[in-house]
Amino acid sequence: MSLEDNRCKSESSSLRLFCYRELPMGMPRLGILLGDRHFDLFSYTSLLGIELPFDPFDLQSLIASGETGLRQLNDAAQSKTIDCAVLRPESIELLAPIRPRNALYAVGWNYVDHFFEGKDSGRPNTPTAYPEHPVLFCKTANTVCGPYAAIPSHAPITSELDWEVELAVIIGRTGRDILPEDALRHVFGYTVINDVTARDIQQRRHGGQWVKGKSLDGSAPMGPYVVLAKDFEIGDQVLSCSVNGTVVQQAKLSDMYFKLPQIIAELSRGLTLVPGDIILTGTPSGVGHYRKPPQYLKPGDLLESSIEGIGTMKNQISA
Ligand code: MG
Repeated sequence: MSLEDNRCKSESSSLRLFCYRELPMGMPRLGILLGDRHFDLFSYTSLLGIELPFDPFDLQSLIASGETGLRQLNDAAQSKTIDCAVLRPESIELLAPIRPRNALYAVGWNYVDHFFEGKDSGRPNTPTAYPEHPVLFCKTANTVCGPYAAIPSHAPITSELDWEVELAVIIGRTGRDILPEDALRHVFGYTVINDVTARDIQQRRHGGQWVKGKSLDGSAPMGPYVVLAKDFEIGDQVLSCSVNGTVVQQAKLSDMYFKLPQIIAELSRGLTLVPGDIILTGTPSGVGHYRKPPQYLKPGDLLESSIEGIGTMKNQISA
């Protein structure tokens, strides 16, 4: 069902990448989405006689292969489509496209409306003036889960599980002290993520440090597709989030306050970014915590997270 929805909403004719496994017990593999058709990358390129300079089962390996790997990938995408290699959506499960080795880097308060919904709430641990620099924090790598995976409710550890749809940036080149004008050359691609957050743990326990409330297992669904940086310019694409079919967040990527070049430049000052690192770029207004009355995720809820031109995730909250 979910794959079909993404097919219907497909708006990009360029290639997108995904990670998947054959049901019921297959190992993770890489795939390419061409138009609205899913292909296994290794099978597809083998049939074309294209030898890939990277492990075709691992996005990290593709990223590490640099321009050479991307060139081969584009050659494959521009070849005549081989229909016999099409994957049947009902026979596969899409997975998170990458498992970062480091923690995920993230930006807080990067949409002005979200800042004011927090400030006006008067709740603890919310700023009173707009930050001069991007607010940076981390989620641990174990938070990553698939674009259709169940998200644990973590009751009773938290009773305030909240949503934050965001654009995720995948770093493609090693760099430190990256200049803003060079920053986009360090981006491999983009995907969708939801920075699911336990508000009570984030704001009222552990000294106001965010890391624990941001790092519960399975609190970063990611995917389903990766668009390459060359195919995606951040602009007026709509990012949106819905809970049980009701839209709760909707904004444009261009609404980000700190733009990506500044985020990468400030994050990388004295801190080396490596291929496969993930940066979450912040969430717009409409999170549950600042609603009146507040609304939180509960078992059985369906969380949908979408960015125009990339794809839509559907995650149910489990007990
Ligand atoms: Mg966030």
